Amino acid sequence: MESSSVAFQLVVNFGVVLFGLALGSFLNVVIYRLMHGGSVALGRSACPHCKKTLAPADLIPLASFVALGGRCRSCKKPISWQYPLVEFLTAVLTLVLWNAYGLTLEWALAVALLAFLIVTFTIDLRYRVILDGVVFSAMIVATLLSLVQGRTAESLLLGAGIGFAFFFLQYAISKGRWIGGGDIRLGVLIGLALGWKGALLALVLAYLSGSVIAITLVATKKRAWKDPIPFGTFLTAATVTALLAGDQIIAWYLKLPLLF
Ligand SMILES: [Zn+2]
Repeated sequence: MESSSVAFQLVVNFGVVLFGLALGSFLNVVIYRLMHGGSVALGRSACPHCKKTLAPADLIPLASFVALGGRCRSCKKPISWQYPLVEFLTAVLTLVLWNAYGLTLEWALAVALLAFLIVTFTIDLRYRVILDGVVFSAMIVATLLSLVQGRTAESLLLGAGIGFAFFFLQYAISKGRWIGGGDIRLGVLIGLALGWKGALLALVLAYLSGSVIAITLVATKKRAWKDPIPFGTFLTAATVTALLAGDQIIAWYLKLPLLF
């Protein structure tokens, strides 16, 4: 590649990162207003502790958090880790999707799905709930993305069926103690987003990562066995992983000298 086109690619990638940071910042506002009320589109952001309206300099993604040392400019109360985490994740993943798809409808739909998944990930992690409105909206985007990617209707229905059955069985067996209705709807979403193969992969990844982290936290006495696990957080993280690298992971797994 010529050096001028390398420079051009760098500028484009930088622009995509800025877009991702701005999107992440918007998602933080969406998350806050979904959980605490207020219009998503209107009104300026304020500190949740002292209610002081934030200055434009306090609204720059990542940079403001670092410059303020993670504390509100007026009341000095800590700013939630959610803000830089969501901005960083959104920016990095938007860039990864850009490098996979370029400026295409596929990229736009994948970024939209990513946005819904990050909102679900964060809200379940922080508030232990899965919001139906977010999951149902994500189902529509996931279906469109799958169809654009050439997945068949059979694969989508089979995936959605597997996701539904997997969680519904646990829900029925445990009479709703292990699994909530939100997890069942998330299972359907995963099938629509990934097809049946990707959905199976995402479920395996979610259970593996969930078990490893839960056991680590119990072993280090950071939580007790009976504490609820934010399963939607693991499911959405696994879905993003399968979305980005599902084919590579499945190909790698099939090459392993295993019996199953
Ligand atoms: Zn404050």
